[in-house]
Amino acid sequence: MLTVFGSTALDTIRTPKKTLKNALGGAATYAAISASFFTKPGLIAVVGDDFPKKYSNILKKYLDVQGLSVLKGKTFRYDGKYDKNLSVRKTLKTELNVLGDFKPSVPEEYKKSDFVYLANNDPVQNTRIIKQFDNVKFSMCDTIEFWINTKRTDVIKMIKSVDAVVINDEEAKLLTKENNLIKCAKKIMNWETSYVIIKKGEHGSLLFYEDMIFPSVGFSLDSVLDPTGAGDSFAGAMIGYLESKKKISISEIKKSVVYGNVMGSFAVERYGLDGLLRLKKSDITKRIKQYEKMLSF
Ligand code: AMP
Repeated sequence: MLTVFGSTALDTIRTPKKTLKNALGGAATYAAISASFFTKPGLIAVVGDDFPKKYSNILKKYLDVQGLSVLKGKTFRYDGKYDKNLSVRKTLKTELNVLGDFKPSVPEEYKKSDFVYLANNDPVQNTRIIKQFDNVKFSMCDTIEFWINTKRTDVIKMIKSVDAVVINDEEAKLLTKENNLIKCAKKIMNWETSYVIIKKGEHGSLLFYEDMIFPSVGFSLDSVLDPTGAGDSFAGAMIGYLESKKKISISEIKKSVVYGNVMGSFAVERYGLDGLLRLKKSDITKRIKQYEKMLSF
């Protein structure tokens, strides 16, 4: 089983063409829904009593929500604005609300999960929750500027508790205080994690393992509307794919990165979660084939 833990949010996303207000978002939401195309993930997250019923219904449709807590108060809110090229996002507001002092616990049924994804979230909560599982075979985490700036030591502790880290290029540089991505990856691997996947937005990603580097391109698109959640969809696809194969060989990890690129590309084609919510499994298979064709020479 796969369990995903992290933020579930009400997002305000400002793109040059459109602003979404109080849209269903959050790193765990994107990651778990992306993973749901490969397996049935369990979600552990917290929302407030202002969380709309229609959003709970979306979560229920795709995920096992036994681990979703509804607490008195406001749901975590994120507000971000993209530049005119959709390449840089500035965070305008991060309101933790009920997520702030959430004490997550793992439902009994999820404790046997062999795959665990710690989506972007408070690193202290993430490190605490991973210890509650009985027999994790493969775990992965992500982080974001906000946590690197406020809790860097805890981010490093979280990294020590997982097998793999997925992180975007700018955040890898900020976290490691290095400018070269290979140096960043080496430093992160020195914090006792085996795999590092550095996401480079539309340019794809780099997978690092021991002395190996596996670069993969992004799926080329002629229209991008909203990059929010691309990284989370990438990671969710990776771990969802691996869970469906029940294997963590390096060749499967390489394939999972390809699925990550493809699911990330669906996420950015529409606003908010729409890119994932409209998706059929056959769309994924078709795009994987196109991706392979794109690379054959
Ligand atoms: P991404 O575009 O992959 O960076 O993911 C964006 C999602 O991350 C949004 O839906 C936000 O709700 C969520 N998010 C933004 N900042 C944080 C944070 N500090 N902690 C947890 N989740 C966050």
